[in-house]
Amino acid sequence: MKRYDVIVAGAGVAGIAAALECARSGMKTALVEKTILPGGLATSGMVNIYLPLCDGKGRQVIHGISEELLKASIKYCPGSIPAGWGGVPGEKDKRYLAVFNPSACVLAFDELLEQKNLDIWYDTQISGAAVKGSKLTSLEVLNKSGKLMLEAGCFIDATGDADIANFAGAECEEGSNSLSLWAMNAYPDKQGAAVAMIRFGADDSGRGHPKNAPVLKGTSGKDTTTFVLESRKLLRNHYANLKDGRTRETEYPVCLPTMAQFRTTRKIKGLASVRNDAFNKNIDDSVGIIPEWRFAGKTWEVPYGSLIPVKIKGLLAVGRCMDAEKGDAWNVARVIPCAALTGQVAGISAVLSVEHETSPDNIDLKDIRNVLDKRGILYHL
Ligand SMILES: Cc1cc2nc3c(=O)[nH]c(=O)nc-3n(C[C@H](O)[C@H](O)[C@H](O)COP(=O)(O)OP(=O)(O)OC[C@H]3O[C@@H](n4cnc5c(N)ncnc54)[C@H](O)[C@@H]3O)c2cc1C
Repeated sequence: MKRYDVIVAGAGVAGIAAALECARSGMKTALVEKTILPGGLATSGMVNIYLPLCDGKGRQVIHGISEELLKASIKYCPGSIPAGWGGVPGEKDKRYLAVFNPSACVLAFDELLEQKNLDIWYDTQISGAAVKGSKLTSLEVLNKSGKLMLEAGCFIDATGDADIANFAGAECEEGSNSLSLWAMNAYPDKQGAAVAMIRFGADDSGRGHPKNAPVLKGTSGKDTTTFVLESRKLLRNHYANLKDGRTRETEYPVCLPTMAQFRTTRKIKGLASVRNDAFNKNIDDSVGIIPEWRFAGKTWEVPYGSLIPVKIKGLLAVGRCMDAEKGDAWNVARVIPCAALTGQVAGISAVLSVEHETSPDNIDLKDIRNVLDKRGILYHL
């Protein structure tokens, strides 16, 4: 048994932001990740657009570690934030975003995660949770050393799939996933674009889902296997049917995702939810603002309760698995910049919970906002 102040489960962008906030605040922090890379879908999943931190009308709404991660994502590769993002309302290519290379992003995230108080556990799968009364007390993990228990004062579920909440018996809701595959393609004959992303399957609205392919929840081992095999088949069919003079000499795969590209698998039932119809509205217990990435002018305030599962104490859920209503709200809350924002907010709450020896649901909103103000994070427009 090892003991930490805070354990962050999953090292996607949400988990990275949470772990950085906790470690920098002096908490003895563990970041537990089943793969060997930081970044989750953004790196292992090869999703390479850090969507906007602005509202599309020239106003930045996300600050803090999310902005730090955006800048890190292009530190070791070509790429830039569009120079005119603040001055050209509504133009997608003029928003505060970045297109990055996933491998370069890993190197920059590694660098950021070199923190004195942070213990990283890669290649370590969380396989269970122990709950006393209604309080989460420890996680069961499995790695090369075998099975062991990790204990903490507070936990952050950043698994994208609400694995921890589910293991702890919290109420959750499942999503569904059309088939998608983003991979890196080589074009050795193309000058200046020798390597580029290639995309198959459905977009975020499900358009492009191949006929007869299964739509999967992504919350079982079998679903994951079916999803990755079916999505790689899309790519294989592409190479098997190259036309117009293109051959395996002029086009071939160079890097495949090593994580299933599920968008919405499982999320917590929280004390509150980001609601579809609550855009451009003031929320009393807001702890952050997230922008619509598909078009300009809509933002949602994030209620603190959307990070806290009902009934289970000592746990926060962030990123893809926080509570946001199915539809626009989940579609907006789950993307990279928003996941990093909610990760940092949960980190702030976890630090206060440990300091006050209590659970996130007992933390005074004023105390959280005090830290948000210090970090320059906006919660009302
Ligand atoms: C096809 C596709 C295209 C997308 N396009 C974009 C885009 O262009 N821009 C954008 O901003 N967003 C995009 N998204 C969404 C975005 O990538 C993710 O929603 C976001 O990265 C989620 O971050 P996260 O940290 O919440 O979760 P994840 O990135 O899912 O990270 C969760 C981490 O937890 C780990 N983990 C899970 N379970 C366990 C366990 N039991 N034990 C230990 N570790 C565990 C995982 O390995 C992973 O590293 C896209 C998603 C998909 C699928």
